Amino acid sequence: MAFTTKLPPQNYIDGQWVDPASGEAIDMICPSDGHVIGKIARGGAKDIGLAVAAARRAFEGEWGRTTATERGRLLSRLGAAILAHQDELAEIEANDTGKPLRLARSDVVATARYFEYYGGAADKVHGDTIPFVDGYQVMIVREPRGVTGHIIPWNYPAQMFGRTLGAALATGNATVLKPAEEACMSIVRLTQLAAEVGFPPGVINLVTGYGDEAGAALSSHAGIDFLSFTGSPEVGVLIQKSAAENHVPCVLELGGKSPQLVFEDANVEKALPAIISAIIQNAGQTCSAGSRVLVQRSIYETFVAALATRMNAVRVGSHKADLDLGPVISKVQLNRVAGFLERAQRDGIPVIGEGRLDASAGEGGFFVKPTLLGPVPVSHELAREEVFGPVLVVIPFDDENDALRIANGTDYGLIAGVWTENGARQLRVAKKLRVGQVYVNGYGAGGGIELPFGGFKKSGHGREKGFEALREYTVAKTIVLNHG
Ligand code: NAP
Ligand code: MG
Repeated sequence: MAFTTKLPPQNYIDGQWVDPASGEAIDMICPSDGHVIGKIARGGAKDIGLAVAAARRAFEGEWGRTTATERGRLLSRLGAAILAHQDELAEIEANDTGKPLRLARSDVVATARYFEYYGGAADKVHGDTIPFVDGYQVMIVREPRGVTGHIIPWNYPAQMFGRTLGAALATGNATVLKPAEEACMSIVRLTQLAAEVGFPPGVINLVTGYGDEAGAALSSHAGIDFLSFTGSPEVGVLIQKSAAENHVPCVLELGGKSPQLVFEDANVEKALPAIISAIIQNAGQTCSAGSRVLVQRSIYETFVAALATRMNAVRVGSHKADLDLGPVISKVQLNRVAGFLERAQRDGIPVIGEGRLDASAGEGGFFVKPTLLGPVPVSHELAREEVFGPVLVVIPFDDENDALRIANGTDYGLIAGVWTENGARQLRVAKKLRVGQVYVNGYGAGGGIELPFGGFKKSGHGREKGFEALREYTVAKTIVLNHG
């Protein structure tokens, strides 16, 4: 029997589940076989207007007066509720995104971690005092931004819910969330859980729908005090323009072309599985996917041969089969990835490894074989553009400077992996990489709720996760007291 959810195709505004003004719903599709798993509301400008007004009332009302301890407790309760419902949430997430059940489950646990972490952090956002002229006392207090707008993508719906709302709620903001229309059923369920654990009306408002309708209405709304966006660089520019029009700050997380630098003294046995998993995780649809492997020329042939062997063993199939990876999110994304592969073939770039389609990868699903290509010229689009699919490219380098030049030589700068046993080189290279996170002899693929995360250049700006996010969602106020 095909999986379906009983979740309402409604928005959650001011503590109520309500029909969208459009009266319309959008079908939600399972990428493994194309069947409809449920419906979401087609929200638009009117719904966003109601949600922003509700958030404003909450912020200026009771929610604005809750103590940090109370907020922390609410977040912790939500973390516990998510863990208690992890089987149900993982099933929804796997069916909605096509990701293997194992990955969906670890995503749900990570979602709970966001609320545990920020629940504990809520009452640890301290202010400061500054030495000043005699007779004065100066205090810096950190205050919430106010009403925060959140627009997130489809690749990790549940985790993104935790990442974008955790720090915002811990610091006392009231929120309006517009998730991606491609996959957000887990977010509808998570919002129900948030209501059950006692978040007051107006604190979390959920409006689902299309980006150019609900999304554009939210980002351009004059009642928003801060915007958080994760998605494509193109839409990131639109968000930034809207933020500029309304004179509000924004944090943007826009993806990457993250490199793994493999030096000749690398521990190859450690590097190989980590490099494969950093590109196949979530079928390559991870902003921090390790999509370029830079290999020192002296070990190029042997290393790449070993990498190809591992790539050939990777298996793709339905989320139900719980293999190495599932389908990509949609037909559009499938065509996009296929386009990159076709152009690579036209340009004579050799395919050196390819995963296998499992029998569970049936008709109607959006399956693509994970592919290893190389050597790829640094000027080629495959070495510069984000594919957002399971496509890994290999590029040789001569020495450390050459490696850094190639690694820093794209428009992106999100994360990087460095593989070398030489301690001095580890730190030297880590410091020279223009990225937000560097992993030495490991690769995070974005993991780690505690670790500040964000980009340089076209990867965006601002930081989420860790204590840095608490700074983003608050603003410093200076109070100068003349006590004579
Ligand atoms: P996207 O269009 O940037 O979508 C991200 C979010 O923005 C979604 O919620 C989307 O809504 C919304 N949106 C779209 N147009 C908008 C607008 N005019 N105003 C306000 N919000 C708007 O990304 P995508 O189409 O899902 O993916 C395209 C490419 O972006 C991918 O191939 C990948 O390269 C990149 N990407 C990066 C990340 C990342 O984590 N960095 C995540 C996803 C995608 P709807 O989707 O509901 O229309
Ligand atoms: Mg879906």
